Amino acid sequence: MDEQLNLAPFGYLVIDRNNRIIEMNQAMQEMVGTVRAPVHVHDLLTVASRVYFQTYFMPSITLHGKVNEMFLTLKSADGPVPVLMNAAERNGLFECAMIGMTVRDEYEKELLLAKREAERINRETADAFNKLKALLAEVECKQGELEELNESLYQLAALDPLTGLKNRRSLETLLEELTMKAEDGVELSLLAVDIDFFKQVNDTYGHQMGDAVLQELAWKLEAEIGDRGIVARLGGEEFVIVLPQIGKTAALQLAEGVRFGLEKAEWLNVSITVSIGVAAFMPGDDAGTLFERADKALYEAKSAGRNRVAVG
Ligand code: GH3
Ligand code: MG
Ligand code: MG
Repeated sequence: MDEQLNLAPFGYLVIDRNNRIIEMNQAMQEMVGTVRAPVHVHDLLTVASRVYFQTYFMPSITLHGKVNEMFLTLKSADGPVPVLMNAAERNGLFECAMIGMTVRDEYEKELLLAKREAERINRETADAFNKLKALLAEVECKQGELEELNESLYQLAALDPLTGLKNRRSLETLLEELTMKAEDGVELSLLAVDIDFFKQVNDTYGHQMGDAVLQELAWKLEAEIGDRGIVARLGGEEFVIVLPQIGKTAALQLAEGVRFGLEKAEWLNVSITVSIGVAAFMPGDDAGTLFERADKALYEAKSAGRNRVAVG
């Protein structure tokens, strides 16, 4: 072998038809790192490469006279060495040139690792995204529950728990709105309704019966007023009926009808009458002054003997 080929920067190997090694340059020896000269090409190869070499190399080179780009793994003292081999037939022998692929192999491994890492990150991102979606759905659900809770809290704050009528607070809000409209000329009247001698009902039949009477009265007042007005419970046995778009005369008539109706109504074992104070909106009124006049009229109805209507 000439000096140039011996020192060439690639492995050079000559084998015969029986795969026996005839010649091998220095780079090839360094690649396999063997002290004892191998005799057979199989001595250079890992088991897997040996099988591949046996099945592919000889049939291929016999048929085409050459073999291009065959990937093999050499055995070496430092472990397996991947190589790319080209071979050609010359004078009944086979010349093989081998280029080490270690760097490329490492590079491929790194690429593979990077790809796996990217896939893992992708999977984790998708997982996190799904978790986020589930959390968002939960937040939306909780938001819905919160809205329902707010609605029921609002109802609790606005309604009287015993009768389900509007309470004093919502009555005040309503009256403020309606007195503003009344300033623009829309009529508005108020009835202050109070049960006569209600204390006696409690004292005679008990508090529970008293509660039942209050509920019954709420129901009767709403039935009587219908959509002409709004009934509210101020507290105790005092109720207020707001009559939007109704003037003094009509309010008085309505109050008399309510009083009479309740006097004649069937009650649970007891007879109930009410006194009613009527007030109609006058220019300069606000919710407070209007209510005060209705209350004063109620006081007059009581003083005059109860079960009657008075106008403030
Ligand atoms: P008047 O004709 O002057 O209005 O006499 P009255 O007995 O109706 O009035 P008074 O203010 O002396 O008594 C009101 C009673 O109402 C006293 C209280 O025991 C009762 N009461 C107040 N709130 C409730 C309630 O929620 N349930 C029941 N059962 N009774 C109540
Ligand atoms: Mg009373
Ligand atoms: Mg009272």
